Amino acid sequence: MSSEQVIRTVPHRTNTQGGASFLGRLFHASELPRRAFRSMGTVATVTVRTDYAERLAAVTEHIRKIFDRLESKMSAYRADSEISLLSRMGGVEPISVSEDTDTVLSLARHFGGLSAGAFDSTAGPLMRLWGFNGAQVPPVRPSEQAVREVLKLVDYRRLTIQDGTAFLPVKGMEEDVGGIAKGYAVDLAYDYCLSVGIRNFLIDFSGNVRASGRPEWGTEWQIGVRNPFDRSRIIGKIALPGGTALATSGSYERYVEIAGARFSHIIDPRSGYPATGTASVTVLCKDATTADALSTAFFVVGACGAHALLEKVPSAELLIVPDTYPMELLLTQGLRETFAPAPEVRSRVLSPKS
Ligand code: ADP
Ligand code: MG
Repeated sequence: MSSEQVIRTVPHRTNTQGGASFLGRLFHASELPRRAFRSMGTVATVTVRTDYAERLAAVTEHIRKIFDRLESKMSAYRADSEISLLSRMGGVEPISVSEDTDTVLSLARHFGGLSAGAFDSTAGPLMRLWGFNGAQVPPVRPSEQAVREVLKLVDYRRLTIQDGTAFLPVKGMEEDVGGIAKGYAVDLAYDYCLSVGIRNFLIDFSGNVRASGRPEWGTEWQIGVRNPFDRSRIIGKIALPGGTALATSGSYERYVEIAGARFSHIIDPRSGYPATGTASVTVLCKDATTADALSTAFFVVGACGAHALLEKVPSAELLIVPDTYPMELLLTQGLRETFAPAPEVRSRVLSPKS
């Protein structure tokens, strides 16, 4: 394998930043009490309104434990996780799963149906074929035949979840909840904060964000969306109302290069090939689990398929940056009102023709 053939892989564990990040508007972000920690190979931050500052350390520690607990159950990188066991026992026998895993698997299947298979948490074998999830990056693009063979192992409808057990019917099938687990983690952290009386906070787990209340009186939480073509810049800011969530999926964070071509870590489970045509997708909706799954699904269907999917989730707001030059932003009408584009950025409302 020559160095030209495999130029670069960006392994999951070095992915430290998501597509969105918290930014202040009428105040500096750094003025607010904030703590960060690492979990699931990436970084999470918890920001609270000033009057909760004294409780921040204890609250963050508790959230870290929640995230670590979820990672130990659901990581595709840990041989002893429930998800890895589920994959190993494919075609053998059902395994018992915890309530967390049961919930995430059920939600993953739900989003599979909603997106007509654009979101598919059984895409694990395809991830591996394309050099992700710890697999070696193939020196050459997999053959059509290889893609077709592996595709036979991918179908979210074949996962059985029943009475606290889960089962994949065919040996070689593999579950990968990487497109939804961080959002679920954020929702659990959100519920926890509310349960202990913290009312004004923002949790950001690698671009999966959920906010509550306000950063200070008369302001709203502002989320900067990263420019997918220049990570040092933002393309604009979104005001995030308390209670709602936002997630960004981008092809610029994690990808492999095979024979000089770059392939994204989001795979189109309908074709078996890495999704193309989209640079980043940001979804704003009611909870972080939905935002996470939908950002992955919209990344797969792209601007062309966005309208059909939006009809199924009319309350979601969407910002798509197609992988084209010059950069253009496509937004749903509702987001137009809360999105403040950077001055140099051209944006237009997503229309059925786009
Ligand atoms: P990130 O995890 O980088 O923030 P996403 O939330 O978009 O980005 O999730 C991408 C992850 O989802 C991949 O790393 C993989 O684990 C999984 N995945 C890839 N393609 C799909 C797909 N079509 N449906 C569901 N999950 C997917
Ligand atoms: Mg996602």
